[in-house]
Amino acid sequence: MDKKYDYLLVGAGLFNGVISYYARKAGKSCLVVDKRPELGGNVYCEEIEGINVHKYGAHIFHTNDRKIWDFVNSLGECNRYTNSPIANYKGEIYNLPFNMNTFNRMWGVITPDEARAKIESQRASIKGEPKNLEEQAISLVGEDIYRKLIKGYTEKQWGKDCKELPSFIIKRLPVRYYYDNNYFNDRYQGIPEGGYNVWINKLFEGADIRLNTNFLPHREELSKLCKNIIYTGPIDEYFDFSEGELEYRSLRFETELLDKADYQGNAVVNYTDRETPYTRIIEHKHFEFGKGDKTVITKEYPVDFEKGMEPYYPVNDQKNQEIYKRYKEKAEQMNKDRADGKPRVIFGGRLGAYQYYDMDKVIAAAFEFCEEEFK
Ligand code: FAD
Ligand code: UDP
Repeated sequence: MDKKYDYLLVGAGLFNGVISYYARKAGKSCLVVDKRPELGGNVYCEEIEGINVHKYGAHIFHTNDRKIWDFVNSLGECNRYTNSPIANYKGEIYNLPFNMNTFNRMWGVITPDEARAKIESQRASIKGEPKNLEEQAISLVGEDIYRKLIKGYTEKQWGKDCKELPSFIIKRLPVRYYYDNNYFNDRYQGIPEGGYNVWINKLFEGADIRLNTNFLPHREELSKLCKNIIYTGPIDEYFDFSEGELEYRSLRFETELLDKADYQGNAVVNYTDRETPYTRIIEHKHFEFGKGDKTVITKEYPVDFEKGMEPYYPVNDQKNQEIYKRYKEKAEQMNKDRADGKPRVIFGGRLGAYQYYDMDKVIAAAFEFCEEEFK
């Protein structure tokens, strides 16, 4: 029997969106299934009172790659939003990322030399290569910033002591000895005008779509419909946790519609003390310079992951990387041993590859796949 679809795309996030787009250009057919009620994965936006609410967490697009920037702008143009979050530590307000504005507010220093001298004096306790996130943070920005802006936020976010966390997590954040509150170093950044659904709808145009459909309980019948499966759900769940459970962090979002034009004067305010139970408050209208007389805010609470919850962040420490490696080998073996007529299964995206990927990295990985697949 001829298979009906060339590709079954499990998960309707950006990774499979890009694959759907290029598959269609190559004349291939796709069926998309997602267990959620909407397309878009984590970038899906829900419209409330004309405001695009980032339902699964605030998303700011940024990249250094011109090809990726041109591609996403061809789907829907980005505005000039520049992410400049504020940190609120017990009522004291600081600019992020760590830059001369932060150092001035913290210590009254004016010049880069003064800031360097201050940080130098505060990192003397760290000898040699930093062994964990605490040591890495103190060695980058000194004790005061670590205590007020990093420790509480990070321990809430990851549910672990900073001494038990890998240092690479904090290396994502820029440290600048000049006055610049732009959170990202990348050359290009913005939010798609009209929200991310504009991109998503273009990406999945022409594909057959089944929402509210979990692939795993229906894998037998769905596999019969296609020649290839691209799976972007959690890889450990696909294999029924045979190599052990991978760790994730989950989140809970509390969203409110407020009868006022502006709640906090900025899209992102981080609460960096340990006691406030949420890590940040997002005010969505500021992503698109909204003018209306109402506003929507979301408090973001980190949650210990349990089976059945949304796995938002992979925890890429050594223990989990080793478990992931076993799943990756298993996936490769499964394709080698595949019986005639059975679909090939490719694992991709943030959960399929168990990588702390930003959107542009997910698109880059999908480009790489498509270049090989549709050449
Ligand atoms: P996802 O968007 O995770 O989509 C996977 C989809 O698969 C989901 O819709 C899920 O429902 C579905 N699925 C899973 N299992 C099954 C199953 N068994 N059957 C059917 N469907 C299934 N990146 C940035 O560049 N900038 C940011 O500012 C930014 N902020 C972020 C904030 C948060 C809170 C989070 C969690 C991520 C953020 N990211 C950001 C990263 C960004 O979300 C990802 O890079 C990107 O969305 C991942 O796309 P994806 O296609 O890999 O997967
Ligand atoms: N971080 C922090 N204080 C802040 C913001 C970030 O200590 O106010 C740390 C925290 O450990 C976090 C990491 O920097 O996990 C990366 O932050 P980023 O904003 O890049 O994380 P994401 O957007 O992926 O949640």
